Amino acid sequence: MFKGYLNAFFDLFFPKNCHICSRLLGGLTARFDDHLCQDCFSAMKRCHVVSCRYCGAALTQDREIEELLCRGCRNDQPDYQRLLACYAYDGPVRLLIHRFKYDGRPYLARTIAALMTRVLPAGWLEQFDVLVPVPLHPSRRREREFNQAALIASTLARDPGLPVIPALKRTKNTRALAGVKRSERRNVLDNAFCLDTRYKPLIARNRVLLVDDIVTTTATVRRASRLLSREASCRKVCVLSFAKG
Ligand SMILES: [Zn+2]
Ligand SMILES: [Zn+2]
Repeated sequence: MFKGYLNAFFDLFFPKNCHICSRLLGGLTARFDDHLCQDCFSAMKRCHVVSCRYCGAALTQDREIEELLCRGCRNDQPDYQRLLACYAYDGPVRLLIHRFKYDGRPYLARTIAALMTRVLPAGWLEQFDVLVPVPLHPSRRREREFNQAALIASTLARDPGLPVIPALKRTKNTRALAGVKRSERRNVLDNAFCLDTRYKPLIARNRVLLVDDIVTTTATVRRASRLLSREASCRKVCVLSFAKG
């Protein structure tokens, strides 16, 4: 009750807007949190439940559904055990990522982590020992002033009390892979990452969750998880992403 009055007081003097539709939050507008209205949240599309365990693609064939595996991934299995993507990269999800990354609003990591927690099964994060963010090239990090994956990872890690280890480094500033042919993606990503050996003792033989804001082709997370499982000898690697492009 008191909290309700307190919120009303703050809304009066410090009005907040939904970062997606700009609507004023407070009064009659139901909100997801201080940055997002309930309508924009409701318009976010969750990823298919029946999807490929490695790339998140929707499945239609009986055999694929039975194995939770698409044809492409059956022939090209990654070094991670499973990929979990939370929402389709579309509509309000696309806008939220845009505001977060390109409009310099790092505090939206809290909203994004809360949205992800809604989708994850209870206690799901506790099966891991550490979280590792997908790295950003230093020059891009300077431009943006933060690594979006690292911010999401550290916000997610807070509640279960897990460490976030920046065990991977980006050594090549690669272009976006969405428009690049599958056969060329490997060349683009060749030596794009390396393991920061200082952190190896902290992740070796551990169960690692690799975290990114958006997964499109899976080429990046495949490359990153190869280093984690083969070079860093992690016991188990899974991938968690806010959006699936
Ligand atoms: Zn809204
Ligand atoms: Zn697949």
